[in-house]
Amino acid sequence: MTFEGEVQTFRGPLGVGDLGTTLMHEHVFVGHPELDLNFPHPEWDEEGLVDTAVDGLERLWELGIRTVVDLTVLGLGRDSARVARVAARTRVNLVASTGYYTADVLPAYFHTHGPGLLVDGPEPLVEYFLRDIEVGVADTGVRAGMLKVVTDRPGLTPDVRRVMDAAAVAHQQTGVPVTTHTHAASRNGRDQLAFLTARGVSAERLIIGHSGDTVDLDYLRELMDAGATIGMDRFGMEHLLSDEARVATVLSLLRLGYADRMVLSHDAAFFSRVTPPSWRAEHAPHWHMENLSLRILPRLLAGGATEEQLHQMLVLNPGRLLAPGPGPTMKEVGP
Ligand SMILES: [Zn+2]
Repeated sequence: MTFEGEVQTFRGPLGVGDLGTTLMHEHVFVGHPELDLNFPHPEWDEEGLVDTAVDGLERLWELGIRTVVDLTVLGLGRDSARVARVAARTRVNLVASTGYYTADVLPAYFHTHGPGLLVDGPEPLVEYFLRDIEVGVADTGVRAGMLKVVTDRPGLTPDVRRVMDAAAVAHQQTGVPVTTHTHAASRNGRDQLAFLTARGVSAERLIIGHSGDTVDLDYLRELMDAGATIGMDRFGMEHLLSDEARVATVLSLLRLGYADRMVLSHDAAFFSRVTPPSWRAEHAPHWHMENLSLRILPRLLAGGATEEQLHQMLVLNPGRLLAPGPGPTMKEVGP
């Protein structure tokens, strides 16, 4: 199995074959810059949480995790200089991302800036996404390795469409893969797939995220049969769906032959203002980045998954997807 191309990480370009076991949807820190500036969260402690993240990533390294994709894009309090401080102190490779997280509307700035708007000019979202991918995020020099878009309960609102349009343009110019946040209960991965493929994003380059929040196998198979990869990426979010149900879904899909169409992750964070550490400790104690290694992979194996299938989902699929460009279609390897 050969991989080609380089993935941009906080340490610079890394050969796709060197990514190793990869968590495809995580967050180092999630915040809200304006709230954080004016009303700092009582549980936020800059230095302490940088240490927490470094220690947590080093524990992941000991568990065999080599790469973590940080999908904290604009709208989630992205602070890549802060993440760079973490990245400099851990052996785990961190991948930065670009995109815009909004379920419904963009900030007012985007309503006055853009083609045909009051302050007429090119689409700023395209400019920002391209700068992040081609030049670097803020002034860190770290280039983004993934694009992220969101649809939630409100569906394809005008601003959500605008973000997805811009992501499609940036994808076509750079070959960086597109990953998504969905509201799986609405099965709106279908809308994302239709919208993005109509704009030139190959389904092969697309990860429909949070797909593990549903147990609707027909819906999930429909996405994968179209060529997309699904993110079974919220292990530990048992306040939404039990890990038992998430494991059963992955096992069912493995039995149906979909090992080459799933990636595994947690959507966890070392700190999130949305659901702060004290809340997580009380309501979702397994929602952390060690959950797969400690609890889930053993359950998958006990349920009949093979080591080869786990390797496919944790190493080969991430490599195939993170490699910029159309990429080779890599099927499950035989034992
Ligand atoms: Zn996320």
